[in-house]
Amino acid sequence: MTTKPTADQAFIRETNLSLALRLIHAQSPISRAQLAHITGLNKSTVSSLVDELIDGKLVRETGMNTIGAGRPATLLEMNSQVGLILGVELGVDFISVAVTDFLGNIIWRKHADTDPNEDHEKVINQSLSIVKEALTAGRRKHLPFLGLGLTTPGTVDVSQGILIFAPNLHWRNVPFGRIFSEHTKLKVFVENDANAAAVAEHLFGTTRRVQDFLFVFAGVGIGGGLFLNGKLYRGKNGYAGEIGHFPIMAEPLQTVCHCGNRGCWETYANQYSIIQRIQARLEVKRSSVIPQLMAEQSSPLTIPLIKQAADAGDQEAIESFAEAGRAMGQGFAGLINIFNPEKIILGGPLSVAGEYLLPDIKETVRLHSLPEMDQQAEVALSPFGPDAALLGAIAIVADDVISNPLRTRDGSPK
Ligand SMILES: [Zn+2]
Repeated sequence: MTTKPTADQAFIRETNLSLALRLIHAQSPISRAQLAHITGLNKSTVSSLVDELIDGKLVRETGMNTIGAGRPATLLEMNSQVGLILGVELGVDFISVAVTDFLGNIIWRKHADTDPNEDHEKVINQSLSIVKEALTAGRRKHLPFLGLGLTTPGTVDVSQGILIFAPNLHWRNVPFGRIFSEHTKLKVFVENDANAAAVAEHLFGTTRRVQDFLFVFAGVGIGGGLFLNGKLYRGKNGYAGEIGHFPIMAEPLQTVCHCGNRGCWETYANQYSIIQRIQARLEVKRSSVIPQLMAEQSSPLTIPLIKQAADAGDQEAIESFAEAGRAMGQGFAGLINIFNPEKIILGGPLSVAGEYLLPDIKETVRLHSLPEMDQQAEVALSPFGPDAALLGAIAIVADDVISNPLRTRDGSPK
């Protein structure tokens, strides 16, 4: 007879460790007794799991719970210092890189503009050079890197780390996982930007305890992260959530989308649609501060500049955002009717203008979703705003550690 655990026992042990860690992450500070109560595991099993998580530096004790009847209990929380995470967001026209602790607190970051017409090799080289700076900055903390997360628009083969197709970048079959792991020697995770933003919202944001929510990631395109029954919904091939390419009009004269089709929802509600609305308004009416702001700042027409004009009370800017908000709201209403979510969260580059978009989104949702659904679903801005996918890149690494808590013992690459 052997005392070595069987493969089944080892699997059950890691599953229970992950279950305990996920609960501590979502509900901290929490006591061992509360963990036993929620999981249904007996107290000695929970104590042994917690000891192992504390040994692995994933969890630490934090003060006592002296509220209520009974013996004061030691409370547990996540240890933010177990290691660092490197996140890379490849946007359509920018790269954002950050180093954070295990709880997504940013220690170092850098942003660079890119040219969407460049081929992917140039953009990858630009990203790799920023990643090198990030690694140097992180090493000063003398903590191990737990992994690198990379987010990109478009459809992603998550298991292979390959971008399959990004319509707004015209990129196909880019093996980001292999390229970034060769250069960093880290474990690399690649994910669609909206999916990753949904994971960040669940781990670090406003939906920690929400089982059904949708993340709408709006910028050059509009992507969706569908978080259903407590986890990300991926569909048959892993490409679910391409809500921006939902065809809402089939007329031949509709705007051509970057995916090649006409009448995709995102062409009415993305950042180009707002810029086009402003251009059309300025052609017929010149009483706007926008041309003056562009001249003063030597800037092209951008969403932050239009937001600045709206802040100054410019009606052309305010009305263009309102029109886009109504177009967005139609899509939100359809999503609410299909999924009956508890929340829909708006994030991504376009959410810098969230305060101008949200009232019209909410009003359109009220008009176009079924009344019972509308009363249930809350529409809100992500606390991460334009950084939603960057935090998403961090979150997909954190989520892997929470799912596989023993991997921090493997000795991550230095
Ligand atoms: Zn499309």
